[in-house]
Amino acid sequence: MKALPLVFDAPKRGLPARHLADLDPAERRAAVAALGVPAYRAEQLARHWFAGHRSEQMTDLPGPLRERLTAALLPPLLTNVRDVECDEGATRKTLWRGHDGTLVESVLMRYTDRTTVCVSSQAGCGMACPFCATGQAGLTRNLSTAEIVEQVVAANAAEVAVGGRVSNVVFMGMGEPLANYNRVIAAVRRLLDPVPHGLGMSQRNIVLSTVGLVPAIKKLTEEGLQITLALSLHAPDDELRNTLVPVNTRWPVSEVLSAAFAYTRTTGRRLSIEYALIRDVNDQPFRADLLAKRLKGKLVHVNLIPLNPTPGSDWDASPKPVEREFVRRLRAAGVNTTVRDTRGREIAGACGQLSAAEAPV
Ligand code: SAH
Repeated sequence: MKALPLVFDAPKRGLPARHLADLDPAERRAAVAALGVPAYRAEQLARHWFAGHRSEQMTDLPGPLRERLTAALLPPLLTNVRDVECDEGATRKTLWRGHDGTLVESVLMRYTDRTTVCVSSQAGCGMACPFCATGQAGLTRNLSTAEIVEQVVAANAAEVAVGGRVSNVVFMGMGEPLANYNRVIAAVRRLLDPVPHGLGMSQRNIVLSTVGLVPAIKKLTEEGLQITLALSLHAPDDELRNTLVPVNTRWPVSEVLSAAFAYTRTTGRRLSIEYALIRDVNDQPFRADLLAKRLKGKLVHVNLIPLNPTPGSDWDASPKPVEREFVRRLRAAGVNTTVRDTRGREIAGACGQLSAAEAPV
């Protein structure tokens, strides 16, 4: 006899119910009106939600109305499972659980001149880059617009409570943002929309990082946005990049660079190139020279990231003298280059380390 599959309480993975933050201001007014409630209530509700208020703090909404609007437009999104800190509290990683049990992480980083939150756009990632912990586990699901924005709202509310605020958002957490295109773009708009409709953030303080999905980069160029684009290049030649960033077999270096340069020409924004330096893999002087050749004269900034260790990979960061030589060659060719100050290694919260494991760190 064939054994029956044991599926007790298997979580049904899926997006949460429609939320206020999935809608633009006009759609919110329509949704509120459809409940027979005056449209101006949508604005009140939005002001509270983006400020991170809980239902009981929404005191300008009469009790029964508040309950109706909450039930219709504020379904539960993410629950904070755990915060872990390092750098004396300046870096904090949060593990979130979605309504369906899905786990994702975000990371808050306080600097002297800014406070940045690094958000996830997907639970897991389907891009399979072999040096990235998120890529190893595969994709669970896309996050909804509201789930993406809530990571920022929650971080910002916590900062406001201690006299600060989140000034910068980087789409550099779990997932490939351009593989969840519509929801990510809507999330960007919620971050930019002025209070009370959104968080009122500035375009120049938002960075979207991609492995290089060329059709999506082209589409982004047409959005009329001016956020910063970061491209995870990691190798200047197709032979190596095919192995480090597997989508390169679909859209090779020359195509992805020309799409990214077109974005910078249209937006006037400097392109960020991310390059994780991996010992004896992509850190040779000839690769520095080839990278310089491909970027020379363009509006770019190279961010070198000392490789962060991930479980299951033997690769490690380049030795400091090798890193210095790589930097020297790029700069000598006139290419703007810095080495990223990596935060959060001790809490597995640095670039490429997010895996949303529930086991204690
Ligand atoms: N999927 C998008 C967004 C993630 S951003 C992208 O790849 O751009 C995370 C950045 O950290 C990417 O540039 C990624 O390539 C880089 N990264 C991944 N694993 C890393 C590791 N082990 N050490 C250093 N950087 C890593």
